[in-house]
Amino acid sequence: MANLDFLNEIEDIEFFPDKDLSNFSTLKLKSHGNFVLVKTVNALRQLLKKCNEKEIHYSILGWGANLLLPKQIESLCLKLDFEFDKKYLSELREVYVLPGSVALNQLTACAIKFGLKGWEVFTGIPASLAGAVFMNAGTNLGEIGELVEEVKLVNSQGELRILSKDDLKFSYRKNHFVNDGDIIVEVSLSHKGQSEEIGPLIKDYLKKRSQNQPLDKRTCGCVYKNPVYANASCHAGQIIDIIGLKGLTLGDLRVSTVHGNFIENFGEADLETMLPLIEAIQEEVKLQLGIDLETEVRRFED
Ligand SMILES: Cc1cc2nc3c(=O)[nH]c(=O)nc-3n(C[C@H](O)[C@H](O)[C@H](O)COP(=O)(O)OP(=O)(O)OC[C@H]3O[C@@H](n4cnc5c(N)ncnc54)[C@H](O)[C@@H]3O)c2cc1C
Repeated sequence: MANLDFLNEIEDIEFFPDKDLSNFSTLKLKSHGNFVLVKTVNALRQLLKKCNEKEIHYSILGWGANLLLPKQIESLCLKLDFEFDKKYLSELREVYVLPGSVALNQLTACAIKFGLKGWEVFTGIPASLAGAVFMNAGTNLGEIGELVEEVKLVNSQGELRILSKDDLKFSYRKNHFVNDGDIIVEVSLSHKGQSEEIGPLIKDYLKKRSQNQPLDKRTCGCVYKNPVYANASCHAGQIIDIIGLKGLTLGDLRVSTVHGNFIENFGEADLETMLPLIEAIQEEVKLQLGIDLETEVRRFED
């Protein structure tokens, strides 16, 4: 990798060369890399500008809840850690203007407190707000994209850009406005008013998730998107279950016996085991049912 001495000249960042990043994704695949914690938008702008000038490739990590990290990350691995005063969420607002690094579970607590209609859609999703918006994360209650009013991002030249609702297009687990090198720094989230039903709905949904998903295990959530089959959307987890792949084990990885679309890391797995397991399941599903399973989990771009 290029000389990274310039990182010492930027305030409000912390640089960790060749850091063990195995705990930086929820699946906890073994991983190392040059890691930068970025504490302000200004610092991010300076950093991306320099990376652009020096042709240094970087990638951005949220909570790592939907990412497969390689054993050695070749790019500069960035993570946002913007200051956020939790008191901001203790007031009812029409629109919440939030840093991209804020955790969704903090927002769920706010949704329960005020009964914010619409915010139930991201119940139980482990994520940073920016990662959730990038993925258009959602549940069968809806998708976060429905609530996004405005997004601020920094592009690869270090310029701050503001995208308003008309610029923000989403589809299933996908955004259509973040270009290569863009980093989301701020999101404005609206809601659809208040209702006393939201708190109980969220609590009930959380309970159901803990019964139907292996939340006590190291996973990356659903590995595959739900495919469309015979013009209807079906659950990838049920497909994997039907063809008898629950419990399938490769090295330290196992298809969950609780939910077929989850793969658990019960040891010291790395990407070199994860990729063949993902492909083996895809091949078997294709062979037995003729269905193409597309991955929802993303390989970290290095
Ligand atoms: C137990 C479990 C349950 C889950 N359940 C669900 C569910 O019900 N529904 C659902 O949709 N997902 C679910 N997921 C997957 C995951 O929580 C979501 O995809 C979530 O949106 C990932 O957010 P993150 O912050 O972890 O992003 P990461 O996984 O860190 O990153 C995801 C992508 O977003 C990009 N990204 C992250 N931050 C930024 C940024 N600031 N700017 C630009 N790009 C960025 C990354 O580069 C990467 O490409 C689950 C995961 C687990 C482990």
